[in-house]
Amino acid sequence: MNVETEEDRRGKRRREDQDEPQRHEVLWFTDGNVVLATDKYLFKVFKGILSMLSAVFRDMFELGESSGGESVVQEMYEGVPLVTLVDDQGEDVAHLLRALYDHRYYNCYNDKTPLNVVIALLDLSVKYEFKDLMKDVVKQISRQFPMSLRDMDRIICEEEPLFQRIDQEKAGLLLLQAAYKTGIDALLPILFFFCSNMHVDKIFQTAQSMDLESLRILIKGRDELIFASCKLVSNLPQDLKADIKNSECLKDGLCVNESRYLHLDELNTPYFHYTQGKETVKFYLSFACKNCASSVAKSIEKRRGDIWAKIPSYFGYPGWEEANAKLEELMDS
Ligand SMILES: [Zn+2]
Repeated sequence: MNVETEEDRRGKRRREDQDEPQRHEVLWFTDGNVVLATDKYLFKVFKGILSMLSAVFRDMFELGESSGGESVVQEMYEGVPLVTLVDDQGEDVAHLLRALYDHRYYNCYNDKTPLNVVIALLDLSVKYEFKDLMKDVVKQISRQFPMSLRDMDRIICEEEPLFQRIDQEKAGLLLLQAAYKTGIDALLPILFFFCSNMHVDKIFQTAQSMDLESLRILIKGRDELIFASCKLVSNLPQDLKADIKNSECLKDGLCVNESRYLHLDELNTPYFHYTQGKETVKFYLSFACKNCASSVAKSIEKRRGDIWAKIPSYFGYPGWEEANAKLEELMDS
């Protein structure tokens, strides 16, 4: 027979208590006038500040006050209104509220902001229309992902740390997912480009939580970029004579006939930065003098620039200029 002892009951109660959301140790202002409840934490904060910074909270509080208790029953917690944020994680809301209440907590010029904080702030600032905070987060992300081929070559090639040195590829995929979910179109072409420069296994490791449509756009655009890149590489031998033609050859014009590419197949990868002019010439072009090699490198860069200009269209976006204009528009809004 199964008899519940006093000990069992006490254990059960303790477990239930542990599952209950707890008061957040920093974000519990005794003179606050609203309690926000999440799965993990309770926050006692100030309505006025939330209303001033967020259109969604302002409307929510106004609705609560104007209902006059007739149709909407306002839940209360120790004498102040209780608002339950059903779909939000307690940790994420804690990042949001700390960013709002403590200016030292979040600074968009700090490259060491942890990625999970950046993503939580993007997600919740868009959801609740904290416009100034949203602009700061978008500014921070766009600083790390500039829309220029030269900058992106450097960032990807040197594996510059992004957001507290976490795995650069994973950071890109998680940011793409967050920007797609929140509809920040201005960031999408550069994030799609960044995420297409990786092995497909890496994409699918992170893809479990990714929106299916964004995954489709990524894979399709990645294919187009690989085709364009492979075409550039395959055409290098036939372009060589023309690429050398106008250089001041240090071997009295011998390079036109003597120089040749070797092992070009190694450049057929999803990594667009592998095709950089200087590196291609350095590692794959033989028997070319310094001037001819430099002339070839410039020609390759020009062709890479032509591909770069088309990259947004591979993912269904008009172009870099339009993406930049959207970014400026967002910042000025
Ligand atoms: Zn030469």
